[in-house]
Amino acid sequence: MASLGLGWGVWIKGNAATQVATSSAVNGRPTSRARQGNGVQRIPILPTTTHHAKLALQLVLVLFCLFVGRAFATVPADQGAAFDQYADRLERGQIAPDTQAGLLKALEHMKGLVPAGDARRELRYRYMYCILGMDASPEQGIAYAEKGIADASQLGYVEGEINFHFCRGANQEVLTTPRDALPDYDAGIALARRHEDQRLVADGLTWRGSVQSLLGEHAQALVDFLEAQKFYETSGEPVESEDNLFNIAVAYRRLGEAAQARDYLQKVLAHGEQKSDRGQQLGAHMQLGFLESEAGDQEAAERHLRKALALAHAVDSRSGGANIHLGLAQVDNLQGQYHQALEELARAKPGFARTGDRSNRDMVLLQAAKAHAGLGQHKLAIDEYGQAEKLLQKSGNLRYLAELLDARSRSYQALGQLGLEVADLRRLAKVRDALDRKAHSDNATLMNYQFQTARRDQENRQLAADRALKEQQLRSLERVRHWQRLALVLGGVLILLLLWLALRQFRRSRKLHRMAMTDPLTGIANRRHIEQLAERALNHAGANGEPLCVLVLDVDHFKAVNDAFGHAVGDQVLVRIAHACKQALRRFDMMGRLGGEEFLIVLPDTTLDVALQIAERLRCKIEALPLANLAPGLQITASVGAAQADHETDDLAELVRRADNAMYRAKDAGRNRVEVVARVQAV
Ligand code: GH3
Ligand code: MG
Ligand code: MG
Repeated sequence: MASLGLGWGVWIKGNAATQVATSSAVNGRPTSRARQGNGVQRIPILPTTTHHAKLALQLVLVLFCLFVGRAFATVPADQGAAFDQYADRLERGQIAPDTQAGLLKALEHMKGLVPAGDARRELRYRYMYCILGMDASPEQGIAYAEKGIADASQLGYVEGEINFHFCRGANQEVLTTPRDALPDYDAGIALARRHEDQRLVADGLTWRGSVQSLLGEHAQALVDFLEAQKFYETSGEPVESEDNLFNIAVAYRRLGEAAQARDYLQKVLAHGEQKSDRGQQLGAHMQLGFLESEAGDQEAAERHLRKALALAHAVDSRSGGANIHLGLAQVDNLQGQYHQALEELARAKPGFARTGDRSNRDMVLLQAAKAHAGLGQHKLAIDEYGQAEKLLQKSGNLRYLAELLDARSRSYQALGQLGLEVADLRRLAKVRDALDRKAHSDNATLMNYQFQTARRDQENRQLAADRALKEQQLRSLERVRHWQRLALVLGGVLILLLLWLALRQFRRSRKLHRMAMTDPLTGIANRRHIEQLAERALNHAGANGEPLCVLVLDVDHFKAVNDAFGHAVGDQVLVRIAHACKQALRRFDMMGRLGGEEFLIVLPDTTLDVALQIAERLRCKIEALPLANLAPGLQITASVGAAQADHETDDLAELVRRADNAMYRAKDAGRNRVEVVARVQAV
């Protein structure tokens, strides 16, 4: 992804692709190599892999070495990492050779680090070499880049493909005209956008912006640069950000926005001085020279250009030097120093020739023509104007065409060729109209950009606000949910508490109820309860016509037991009797304590003779109770009275009274026996 600009200085290279940014715009006329303008070359370079991919590659390499054996074990597993590290440092300007020779050495070193058989890294080296180091003709540069595009595409190495497009574009710029580089830059940008690689998009925009700038499409260029700048600033890329400031400055200058341009250039210069980056200082001084010249301050212009020239010599920038000489020629022409102008042009030409840069031929011819015209050599001037005109028409630079027509019409006038003078003046009027229209459209482009930017900012703000609102709503919803959950939990706890309380209450009341119904000593029903049960059974028997009997059982001479053995023993005797009787009774029979040593037994669905058998069984059981462990020699008997209910006449009280009477008869008859009271007797 990263394609980082390098803070490298200015070198003159035979190959346009590697010529660095002298950004010479003589009189605003950019050279074809105004890459990043400031003598700081912008180098779109992609690292071959993401961090993960790097790790994966390392892993693969390690496995490869392990499995394939000694032959490959000689390639250290970390060689790929070493290459990446070096390439990254070169891209980021952490390794920043100041001269062309130094750069070539760095690239050579990088090449040596490419692990054997590593096609991607090899391609990475190749595109960096293509853009930075290649010292060949533009044709060779194009062929090299095309091979790179094909190889990268075959390998599916998009970053490589994009950078080779940029490299081919750069070579194309010099070979024919900058306009011909646009398809490559557009292709690179489109690929980068598809690949969602913002950095390469930004880099492509700076390449394309530079061409737009060269084509006189300064507003478009500015838009590209500003767009790229946004990325560089937001992604925290100081090198690119600073480099691109230069582009923006140049675009502003070419749009005639001198104040803005001066501002940006001063910033660039300050950065360059801070970093002792001579290339950057060179670019800034050169641009300030052009700017002041355009603004009419030729002395200031010359000062800047001289400083730039000294820097160009220091960093061995041939193309930089040539462009500065061209700029100085212009300054001389404007000051009427025509001989000096021609001398400067003579100095410029070999520089351009050596670098193969033909993009400035029109400007060289125009300045030469002006100088010759200034010296009165109008015929020679007209010849040069004619050559320059052809080139300017080809590049479509109206501003210089206007300058040319204006100057040439004066030469025609001087030569008395009035017809040609008029023809040029007429064309001049048309070109000026076109320039006016262009200014309007530039204005519209910029305004549109500003409008779009403002709208996008507004949309972004709105998006951010929407998001913040949603987050806030989510947070409050979360708060509400939190409270809801808490309320639910508390509600649950409350319900459990209430349930527990209710259960406790229920158990308590049941216990109270049981206590109210139970005789505390023997644990059987108390008087109230046995009477309730008896009443119910009697009603049921009456309703169903079933027989029902009751027994009244009274312990014999119980007082004597108390007296002889104590009340506590008496109590235990009562407990044993109750227990024994309960056991001797059937499941549905009922027994309760009427009080003292007297018990009532209810026998549902029982006829009197069965009741007598039961009574006899109880009596025997009591008589046989083993009580010696309570008190030695203790023995007990009971007298039982039985009665059967007469459903016609009996209520419970009457029935019990008859059983009671029977019990007393048993007492009277000598105790320890069962008696029945005949109904007749009872009445
Ligand atoms: P009888 O054979 O005529 O029924 O003689 P009895 O001594 O059993 O009859 P009485 O009515 O004279 O005496 C009943 C005694 O029962 C008097 C009282 O002290 C005793 N008694 C009543 N309730 C209890 C009790 O809960 N525990 C004890 N230990 N004695 C009780
Ligand atoms: Mg009694
Ligand atoms: Mg008794």
